[in-house]
Amino acid sequence: MTKTHKKIVAHGCGDFLYAINRIKSGCRNRKCAKKSLIQKFPPIDDYKTIKFRQYNTEVIKIKKCLFTCLLGVFTFFVVFTVYANTKVIYWGVYYPNPGYIPIGNVTYDYLSEYDAFYHGFANGEKVLYLTFDAGYEDGNTEKILDSLKERNVPATFFLTGNYIKTNPEITKRMVNEGHIVGNHTMTHPDMYKLKSLDFASELEKVEEIYKDVIGFEMPKYYRPPACAFNEQNLIDAKALKVLMICKD
Ligand SMILES: [Zn+2]
Repeated sequence: MTKTHKKIVAHGCGDFLYAINRIKSGCRNRKCAKKSLIQKFPPIDDYKTIKFRQYNTEVIKIKKCLFTCLLGVFTFFVVFTVYANTKVIYWGVYYPNPGYIPIGNVTYDYLSEYDAFYHGFANGEKVLYLTFDAGYEDGNTEKILDSLKERNVPATFFLTGNYIKTNPEITKRMVNEGHIVGNHTMTHPDMYKLKSLDFASELEKVEEIYKDVIGFEMPKYYRPPACAFNEQNLIDAKALKVLMICKD
């Protein structure tokens, strides 16, 4: 019997193991019980190694568990963010109280966080903002302009790049008669399907054409085609310092 073996028996649960082993082996003799106990348990160096390995295994298990948990939380946030950013909002309003501001399917506060608006505040005064979309010219715009001029009513016309290009004189008339010309994108695509760079390009191309035709910078107002957008569009529009205006 080596010193190390004795230590095992003497320390910790040694007495207990000794007793168990005695019962198990059916040995009434203290010597033979000790012998079988020593055979069953490794020398102390191996014992320490085993304990160390067990400890290491536990640490690795905990680390793995922590890693899996963190990965799970991270994945959840990524999926949630992507879902939230790409979920399409088809803008719409309803009028529960006639004569009052309509209610949108997204709140005013949510939109204004991204500098997007569907109504304004005019110090308690009731003001109607008249806006028009013009993806293409169908021969009615000049009649609308005549009517607005007659009544001295300013409005905002959201024009596509193609509209400005093919109708420079009507666009000039809009500006000269005090109307705002807003950005209705270059090609009238589903903006929520575009990546940030393409989104920017759709707006910037119109700004360039406007500048060529009118001679100065285009006002930073933008209306998404079909008023359909996602949160990423709102983020991109805000980054471009463009005010998104939805119809009411
Ligand atoms: Zn449109």
